[in-house]
Amino acid sequence: MKTRMKELVELLNRYAYEYYTKDTPSVSDSEYDQLYRELVELETAHPDEILPESPTHRVGGVVLKGFTKYQHQYPLYSLQDAFSREELEAFDQRVRKEFSSISYVCELKIDGLSISLTYENGVLVTGATRGDGSVGEDITENLKRVKDIPLVLPEPVNITVRGECYMPRASFDRVNQIRQENGEPEFANPRNAAAGTLRQLDTKIVAKRNLATFLYQEVSPTDQSSQEGVLEKLARLGFVVNQERVLAEDMEQIWEFIQKVAQLREDLPYDIDGIVIKVNDLAVQEELGFTVKAPKWAVAYKFPAEEKEAKILSVDWTVGRTGVVTPTANLTPVQLAGTTVSRATLHNVDYIAEKDIHQDDTVIVYKAGDIIPAVLRVVKDKRVSDQALAIPTQCPSCQSELLHFEDEVALRCINPLCPAQMKEGLNHFASRDAMNITGLGPAVVEKLFAAQLVEDVAGIYRLTVEDLLTLEGFKEKSAEKLYEAIQASKENSAEKLLFGLGIRHVGSKVSQILLQEFHDIDQLATADPERIASIDSLGMVVAESLKSYFAQEGSKRLLQELKEASVNMVYLGEKVAADAALSGMTVVLTGKLERLTRSEAKAKLESLGAKVTGSVSKKTDLVVAGSDAGSKLTKAQELGIQVEDEAWLESL
Ligand code: NAD
Repeated sequence: MKTRMKELVELLNRYAYEYYTKDTPSVSDSEYDQLYRELVELETAHPDEILPESPTHRVGGVVLKGFTKYQHQYPLYSLQDAFSREELEAFDQRVRKEFSSISYVCELKIDGLSISLTYENGVLVTGATRGDGSVGEDITENLKRVKDIPLVLPEPVNITVRGECYMPRASFDRVNQIRQENGEPEFANPRNAAAGTLRQLDTKIVAKRNLATFLYQEVSPTDQSSQEGVLEKLARLGFVVNQERVLAEDMEQIWEFIQKVAQLREDLPYDIDGIVIKVNDLAVQEELGFTVKAPKWAVAYKFPAEEKEAKILSVDWTVGRTGVVTPTANLTPVQLAGTTVSRATLHNVDYIAEKDIHQDDTVIVYKAGDIIPAVLRVVKDKRVSDQALAIPTQCPSCQSELLHFEDEVALRCINPLCPAQMKEGLNHFASRDAMNITGLGPAVVEKLFAAQLVEDVAGIYRLTVEDLLTLEGFKEKSAEKLYEAIQASKENSAEKLLFGLGIRHVGSKVSQILLQEFHDIDQLATADPERIASIDSLGMVVAESLKSYFAQEGSKRLLQELKEASVNMVYLGEKVAADAALSGMTVVLTGKLERLTRSEAKAKLESLGAKVTGSVSKKTDLVVAGSDAGSKLTKAQELGIQVEDEAWLESL
């Protein structure tokens, strides 16, 4: 039990970090909520074992140090939640035990980011995130770019208000489409997109993303006596207040509203994840007070994760860059969490076997943290075929035999000349973190292969403007532009090329570390695997993968062709801008880092212009300290040197 509690605390804290700080959740909210519940139950049963770092004792986020800290004058709380009618009734009874005659305001729970806005004499002076509830981030300049936030109020009041800043679904779709076209990772959902946008350092981007707000609380002392009065006042002052709400006298009316909203939810132009039920009378609210984390006068009813039934029409098997063949089901279209879903991932062959999926099965689909929905299970009662889903034996692209290695869940095409792999390989080669060739996206790659103008990545360097002009949609100007972008990529520092080659286990960070060490690709190709494996943070897996890549005849030929095309093979070092965040600073790393390896932290510091040294002296400008930092930290403190932590470094 103790180990499970520790495990849950660690897991939930990691998920919270990914969700609040990095804006890239790796699990769905309902999965998080389930684990959280399990922890609450264990903690209730064993109060003596509660760990001090438990997330049940803290309000969500961490302050990102890229922004200035903002100390909230009035704390911003989280909400207790309820997942069933019984839990709502328990909440209602707790309240009614003390106050028998009360009413509640039921509001939509907007799935965005909590913000607070402070006005002095009617003028917006600060806008901040909730952060951990007492300290948030000052994001005033960004919030000023959110068009529906009034910069000046019609009355010269001093007031702090709180609300939710969100990204409407239409903006979310547009932003993701642009990101997809640019080869950038898409946002998982509108909440992450809103959070990521508000943490932009470039206010111009915020202005373009069309964020919006709903305000729902006067955090500074109010002249109103009810929540409903506050909402009306906020609307009078020019804030956007959500009109979709009711005043409920009892559980029946609350439940009725919940049912109504559950129906309406899909048609809303923004995401909600529940209903917030608040005691209307502010005097009663004050009497009820707060727990460490949340008000006792409110509860958030969370909708269950959306699941829908759909029928499998067919399955597409697509070959990725590394030869992995992935199944995606085409479905009868269903509405799920605000979007029409007609495809769902089946992950891999092992998943299909485990879930026992048959042809034409009716399945339950749901949206996980990812963008593509997934198949949760089969509705066996509706099964129409006794034929298990057909698993291909041949590559859908090159028809060579597919392999299912024992230690892998995936099917693989191992033909190095498979056109589908080549195409994906070129997409990867041209992507931003690799050779960064603007204009060479998946659609153009498709055309190049269809016209047989290229067969592999080296082929793009043989293309002429005339070749490009033969492609549909290309005019003189666009052909020249793409030609120039391809030529310019020849000058890239070699770590971009190494990453672009798409060698297994060699990501962009590993490429950087390798080339810092070996300087050019030829030296790396002939390096002793032991030496590669001994580099801090790398290991034998990377070394073996490089060895087998460079030993292949195909790889040798490809590198030779790239050389003949004058593609640079040498590490040019980080070109650090003079105005980089840590330009010219001498920095010491000490202690145990949790998320970054030493080399990653060092590379990051160097990329920001810092010189990283081993010992603290008067010349040191900054110390980045992890946990259990010893004498170096003490010395830094004695010398009055600035000390920061890992989260700070990551936020830069
Ligand atoms: P919460 O989101 O459950 O509820 C509190 C928040 O609701 C407030 O901070 C406020 O911003 C918001 N809200 C929206 N409309 C409101 C309204 N009308 N009135 C009052 N408040 C309103 O709590 P939280 O502490 O912000 O986050 C916890 C939740 O975040 C979890 O339950 C989980 O769903 C999600 N989470 C997910 C992950 C993950 O990895 N997927 C990780 C951490 C947290």
